[in-house]
This record gives sequence, structure tokens and C-alpha cells, in this order.
Amino acid sequence: MTEHIAPLRLSLSVDALQSNWRWLAAQSGSAACGAAVKANAYGLGARGAVEHLQNAGCRDFFVASWAEAADVLPMLTDGASLSVLHGVRGDDMAMAAASRARPVLNSIEQVARWRQAGEGHPCDVMVDTGMNRLGLTMDEALSGALDGLPVRTLLSHLASADEDVPQNAEQLARFQALKAGITADRYSLANSAGICLGEDYAFDLTRPGLALYGGIARDACLGHIRQVVFPEMQVLQTRTVKAGAPVGYNATYTPLQDQRIAIINLGYADGYLRCFSGGKGGAHFEGQALKLVGRVSMDLVALAIPEGCAVTEGDWVAIDYDLPATAAASGLSQYELLTGLGARYDRIWG
Ligand SMILES: *Cc1c(COP(=O)(O)O)cnc(C)c1O
Repeated sequence: MTEHIAPLRLSLSVDALQSNWRWLAAQSGSAACGAAVKANAYGLGARGAVEHLQNAGCRDFFVASWAEAADVLPMLTDGASLSVLHGVRGDDMAMAAASRARPVLNSIEQVARWRQAGEGHPCDVMVDTGMNRLGLTMDEALSGALDGLPVRTLLSHLASADEDVPQNAEQLARFQALKAGITADRYSLANSAGICLGEDYAFDLTRPGLALYGGIARDACLGHIRQVVFPEMQVLQTRTVKAGAPVGYNATYTPLQDQRIAIINLGYADGYLRCFSGGKGGAHFEGQALKLVGRVSMDLVALAIPEGCAVTEGDWVAIDYDLPATAAASGLSQYELLTGLGARYDRIWG
């Protein structure tokens, strides 16, 4: 443990995370509501997210890889379950066979590999119902290839649940056919947006990610899903730029009048990408808006200080990070805005 304080931090709201989970759980009807905590819980920090979600009542967690599983396993309470979405490669077998986490088997090859782990090793299975990404084909799944396998959860994944398109109902119908033909303890189809499509999509277990962390997966989330992540960074220096003098790389901003600016500890290496350049990003200090000026550097950003704003070296400013608004301004997806948050932030749950 280090007492050193980084010059940039993610202020993470336990209350908002738990309230988002409770809303998604309520929308899931009688289905259990799990949590996708892959990619370090979408950038928030997987261990903290798992701890606080468990305290809210969540018991089913999903990561992408066995390295991610190893990170969160020590946090799991006795009744909790962990599924590894990318299944099991040959290189994962030793670790997987000894783990309480389950692989989500995605192919005939993975099914055969897992059978070698020995009789009775539980697993999950992913079937492709139309996304053509991971999973057994419908034909493979219904061919008897899964006979005798102790399948805890049978999964499929929706490709376009954030849109109103026929593909959703098509995938739902295929998943219902799978449920009729394949024995598993539980069936699971819906991600965040899928939960918003209605209880038909919930089956026994839902798997939200984005909406837990404040993402507005569909309009139905508006007014219910709260912002969880508040990035804050310290002012390293303030200066007055003379009228007509250029600021930053390639001199893309030149004030017409003398302008005070604040240089803050944030850059594209922290996931704050160059698409925020040219005034598309901004921050707040004591209720006043500071507009981003010039180009985003690797580790630094310049903000124009408005008249009467007292911000100075050492102060903390809050970067504007409302997810839908920031996605619209930057052209990045809400997912990218979260998962890009890098390793240099202190992550502070409060
Ligand atoms: C990432 C993922 C989820 C969560 O999706 P969101 O859109 O973030 O809610 C659920 N299921 C699977 C298989 C995933 O890969």
C-alpha cells in the first residue's frame, strides 16, 4: 500500500453502482441479476466493483479471461459464481480445472477439452443465436454434443439489443428453441440493453455491464441509471496566455484576448483521447465551466479559466463525463469512455 496520491483519480459512487444494480435486478423480474466485470469492471476496478455489487446482493459474475478471473476470485463470497466468457484454451486448462470459476465453452473443441478435465467439472456454454461471434452453432448445440455435460448456465448474447430491430426477436426465438432442447440449470440471454427489452428476454439470469457503471444502454435507463464514475484531476500550473499567442501542440488554439488557462494532469494515455481536442471536452470547478482548449497531449490538457474563477495550482477539477453526452461530443461509445480509463488513476470508492 502506498500513501502517495496520484494527480488524477476516479471518484466512484458505491451508492450509484448499487442503485443501478438494484434497478436492473428489478427490471429482470424473477431472474437473478448478475454483473459483467470483465475489462477491470469496464475500467472502474474489478475488485472494488465485485465487493460493492456483492454487498448489494449480486452473486453471478462474468469476466473475459482466466487472468481476470484470478484477479477477482479472492473477492468472491462462498455462494458467488464466476464465469469466464472466453472459455478454455489448452493453455488455460491447468488453471481452469483447479478453479472454482467456470469456463463458458464456446466451441466443440472447447467442449471436448473440458470433458478431459474429468467427469462432473461444471461449466457454462455459449450458443450463437445470430451474432456470429463466440459460441457453438445452433446445430452443434442441438446435435447431442452437450449430452452429459454438467451445464450450469446456457448463454447466448444479443447483437443489437440497443436498437429496435427484428434481430432481437429472432435471437429470442432461437434461444427459446435452445432452452427446449438443451438441459441446463439456468438460461441467460440479456445484457444491459437486453434487460430493457422486457422480461421475455430475462430467462433465469441477466448479465448487465454498461448500465451498472452508469451507461444509458437504452432510453428506458434515463432517470434510473446514475453516473458512477467521476474523473477528477489536479491543476499542475496556471498561466496567462497573451492575446495572439498559441497554446499546445501544433498551435491549434490562439486566444484573441489575454486568457488564463489551467494545465491539468490528464491526457490520451489516460483514455482521454484526442477527439476531445478543439473544445469538445470540458471540466467544472466550483460550479464554473472550463472549456478544453487546444489539443489533448499524452499527459496534459489545457482548460480556459473563465472570468472570476479562482482555480489555481493544486486544485482538483472535475472533467465532464456524463456518459451519453460525452459519447455524443467525442464520437466514442459509452463503453470506450469507461474501458479506456487507464492505470494512472487512483480509484476511490465512496
Ligand atoms: C460484455 C458482455 C455482457 C455485458 O454487456 P453490456 O452491454 O455491457 O451490458 C453480457 N454478456 C456477454 C457475453 C458479454 O460479453
